[in-house]
Amino acid sequence: MAFRALQALWILTIFERLLVGWANKHFQKVFGNHGWNYKSVGNHGIGVRILVIQSMPRGPYQRVAPDQNSSDSQQCKILLVRETQIMSALILDGTKIAQEIRGEVAAEVKAMAAAGVRPGLAVVLVGHNPASEIYVRGKVKACEEVGLHSEKHTPLESATTAELLALIGDLNQRDEIDGILVQLPLPSQVDSKKVLLAVDPAKDVDGFHPMNVGFLSTQRPGLVPCTSAGVIEILKRSNIPIAGREAVVVGRSDIVGKPAAMLLLNANATVTVCHSKTHDLAGVCRRADILVAAIGRAGMITRDFVKPGATVIDVGMNTVTDPAEFQKFFAGNAKREETFRKKGSTLIGDVHPEVAEVAGALTPVPGGVGPLTIAMLMFNTLKAAKMRRGSQIPELTKA
Ligand code: NAP
Repeated sequence: MAFRALQALWILTIFERLLVGWANKHFQKVFGNHGWNYKSVGNHGIGVRILVIQSMPRGPYQRVAPDQNSSDSQQCKILLVRETQIMSALILDGTKIAQEIRGEVAAEVKAMAAAGVRPGLAVVLVGHNPASEIYVRGKVKACEEVGLHSEKHTPLESATTAELLALIGDLNQRDEIDGILVQLPLPSQVDSKKVLLAVDPAKDVDGFHPMNVGFLSTQRPGLVPCTSAGVIEILKRSNIPIAGREAVVVGRSDIVGKPAAMLLLNANATVTVCHSKTHDLAGVCRRADILVAAIGRAGMITRDFVKPGATVIDVGMNTVTDPAEFQKFFAGNAKREETFRKKGSTLIGDVHPEVAEVAGALTPVPGGVGPLTIAMLMFNTLKAAKMRRGSQIPELTKA
């Protein structure tokens, strides 16, 4: 009661302000001298911090994570830090990184073309799936921009497995085609696995063929799935260390989760892979220095899943059309509200926007991993062209 009364009289607030100034000035000295371990609650944009006692009733407060090297983590646990200024994560600009990669690919394609070889990509788009048509259009346009030859094959919606196998067989034979991409999903009457297995592993620019999966897991040169390769490129090009760090991947699909985990392992991270049967998912995720979300559930990764200061890579791409759901994630975000009003939908990742207040670095959606997927497809086509001709593989993703 007395505490509340003092608070009402603003006495505690004034005291708190004085304490803020003092604590910020002497933060290092005070905790260092007392041998208490404390850890910064983020690498970027940390606001004013004060120490408060555990019973302090007003938030938001953040428990200080025990230092990894601490022999006395109990002492750490009684410390709470209050952020009087919400910190915000460094936003990892996937669009910019993708442009860099495209520029590098374009320069190599130009050099190859000058030497008489123009690498080529064949895209197979079966039937009329509006989303697939948009993706394929983007891929063909990207090929034009980096100087790759591209061609689109559009069998009818009624195409059979045998017809598609014949088309793939033909593309496998053609020397000027270095990459073959079969846009998924295929119509239900088609045996998708059989069709994907028919793609020559040397031209498998999606990296889905079991031969390329094996090359990845045994660290041999091969073609790596584009989205997962993009995750690693974002980390590397943002100078985020991987070796020796705890990485948690949520999602174990063959096209994203598993290859991302394997790439992180190959880069010497200590990797945990989570899925729908994982117990205490939030607790496991909180161990991560690098958290990769590839789930397909809008905003599922909330701040409780994230260790303060961690790097969070959001692979998810989910469309929100329900105004109530939109409000849950983006209330007060004027830019998003305008887009939602105009389009009736917005794109959200698997990571809740509030995570930006806890993470050290974060990929946005859109503009994070998405642009990397196409850039890595361009890179894979170049890589396939070089590997098929016995040339040196471009440096980009040898990991
Ligand atoms: P997927 O094949 O559906 O796999 C989803 C994974 O998430 C599964 O392993 C599943 O576990 C796990 N999962 C689902 N619900 C879960 C829960 N409640 N708790 C823990 N794990 C859960 O999806 P995907 O193809 O990997 O794609 C994942 C997301 O990435 C999607 O949003 C997709 O649109 C996006 N994506 C983006 C790009 C890009 O270019 N940015 C490219 C590809 C995919 P189980 O295995 O136990 O079922």
